[in-house]
Amino acid sequence: MITPVLPTYARAPLSFVEGEGPWLMTEDATRYLDMGAGIAVAALGHSHPRLIEALETQGRRLWHTSNLYEIPNQTKLAEMLVERTFADTVFFTNSGTEATEAAVKMARKYHHAKETGRDEIITFNGSFHGRTLGMISAAGAEKLTKGFGPLLPGFVHVPFGDHDALHAAINDRTAAIMIEPVQGEGGILPVPDQCLQGLRKLCDEQGILLIYDEIQCGMGRTGKLFAHEWSGATPDIMAVAKGIGGGFPLGACLATEEAAIGMTAGTHGTTYGGNPLACAVGCAVMEVMAEDGFMEHVSRVSGHLRQGLDSLVARFPDVFELVRGSGLMIGVKCVVPNGEVVAAGYDHKLLTVPGGDNVIRILPPLIVTTQDVDEALRRLEAAATDLSGRAA
Ligand SMILES: *Cc1c(COP(=O)(O)O)cnc(C)c1O
Repeated sequence: MITPVLPTYARAPLSFVEGEGPWLMTEDATRYLDMGAGIAVAALGHSHPRLIEALETQGRRLWHTSNLYEIPNQTKLAEMLVERTFADTVFFTNSGTEATEAAVKMARKYHHAKETGRDEIITFNGSFHGRTLGMISAAGAEKLTKGFGPLLPGFVHVPFGDHDALHAAINDRTAAIMIEPVQGEGGILPVPDQCLQGLRKLCDEQGILLIYDEIQCGMGRTGKLFAHEWSGATPDIMAVAKGIGGGFPLGACLATEEAAIGMTAGTHGTTYGGNPLACAVGCAVMEVMAEDGFMEHVSRVSGHLRQGLDSLVARFPDVFELVRGSGLMIGVKCVVPNGEVVAAGYDHKLLTVPGGDNVIRILPPLIVTTQDVDEALRRLEAAATDLSGRAA
């Protein structure tokens, strides 16, 4: 029998009613240590006082007016993003997939305005850009697209990390290359800095726009505001979401003035995108992340976590294979099915997130302390002990 909520999610039998920092509480007050942060969304943890304050204050003043009018919080958040990134301009959305959609539309419109005849977008196997028809067509994986055809044409898929295939795929129809600097859903696969630099050079030489999808790896996750900053290779267009709202639905498509040249009044829009509530919270997230020491904290804690995970992998070779990732965006590739590791974590009140390539993703709130990380490592060790014992 169908459930009142459409059964598209394979949900864990858990539900939470309260949160505090990296902790989530069930109705019966059981505390779970949240190393998933609602899939890299609750970047400042749960119930952050600054975010509560921002939402409550705006909630009492004004919720929604629409993009028919100026929205002061939206302008303020755009200014903060422009000031701290490659971008000159920002379009706000409610979700990640709307941000990648806007990015692709913008790239096509750019080439239309320039009359280049280019309209194809190159993407990579294992990528994830969201669930609209456009973005499942963009990623192309069968598990996303099966039964939903006909798909949107104009996307060319190349194997991740295959330089020859990428060069072979480029032709005079290529409008843009879209890539996650760290593949998230695909299993936490970082693109090496020199590859991003190579992509930037290639795009410049060929008149192709470079689009980054930093929906998962952005907003401080890797220890810089955006993951590509480690490489110095900036994009023309970038999709952002997840952490930017700290739990309030918000996304953004950032662009250079040049890349945005086709996006004139009336060409694109959204009713809710960048509304006063969302942008009040977004501004507060940006302010907290801009504080002295925030990114240094992420790097310090991530080093500690990484060390602990490396040691766990060494001690449980029948459960874990390897650790990879960047900052607090870490994938642990498992030997046993990753779903079993996530479930064993639940037994020890630890939340992690499964990902592609049989990894468990560790995406804690960026405010976790080394003590929180030690606690998470103890719980993951207990989970691994259960699984290791059973396999023997
Ligand atoms: C989560 C995610 C999306 C989709 O975001 P939604 O808010 O679920 O639409 C797109 N790209 C990447 C890299 C993501 O991690």
